Amino acid sequence: MAYTDAHRLFLQNCLLERCLPQSKAEQIFQKCLSATSSDQTERNFQDAILTVNVALDPINLELRTIQDEISGERMVAIVNTKGDDIAQMATSYSASELNAFKHLIKLIMTADDGNFCVASTATINDIYHLGTHGSKLLVQEFLKDLVRSQWLDLSAAGYYSLSNRSIVDLQTYLKEEYSECISECFLCKEIVTKGERCPREDCGTALHVYCARKYIPVHRNQCPSCHTSWVESQVFGSQTFDGTQLRQSRIEVSRQRRQTSASTPDSNREEGEEVEVDEEEARDEEE
Ligand SMILES: [Zn+2]
Ligand SMILES: [Zn+2]
Repeated sequence: MAYTDAHRLFLQNCLLERCLPQSKAEQIFQKCLSATSSDQTERNFQDAILTVNVALDPINLELRTIQDEISGERMVAIVNTKGDDIAQMATSYSASELNAFKHLIKLIMTADDGNFCVASTATINDIYHLGTHGSKLLVQEFLKDLVRSQWLDLSAAGYYSLSNRSIVDLQTYLKEEYSECISECFLCKEIVTKGERCPREDCGTALHVYCARKYIPVHRNQCPSCHTSWVESQVFGSQTFDGTQLRQSRIEVSRQRRQTSASTPDSNREEGEEVEVDEEEARDEEE
């Protein structure tokens, strides 16, 4: 597909937003097509991504999609393809700010219990003592800017973690610097910082919150790798401090499932129908 004014407009929007839900990106692209009175045959979004990426290639940028670790929503992010260092952020941040950000990534990647998050008060103190910022207020402003620019997530309970943008844009750096600490989701193969680990220590299987929620209940509540019961899985990530009670809801789901199957031994119900009910219940309980 030829690179048109619609693609140019769409790219400008993506550059402004940096990381946005794919549904929103698709709407923006449709608006760009209308605004430029483009041909109906050019309406395919995936083709548009490919066309924009050909245009971005010479300047080492690319549109990439990533799945949100908790909601599973597909996101579109503009990333550097020469992502071997955080230096790519240098256009927006000073050298000392980059050092502070690298330090923060280290705190997150090496956090206690593999939770990939750090409490905000501890973070402010820690970065202040680096001496890269003159006061704690300046550190706070810097952290706010990282959140605004989508480099960092701040959870409801006040924990900093890596954002979708950071994970997709800095993945080469993260994999090289923190190969010891990093896990990839067994199911979707993306980096996982918010999820669940197999209760069997020598298994090491990790799943995103979203991937576990989708897969585990319809696969006998077992680890996809070693088939150990997943009921005692270890939940990790910043969301574990939010009181979202994902674990409780899933234990409740499996309890209800046992009760249901015990009370209706002659049921002709098919597997798919049962799952639909379970997922709905799980959602209700999480809200
Ligand atoms: Zn996954
Ligand atoms: Zn396992």
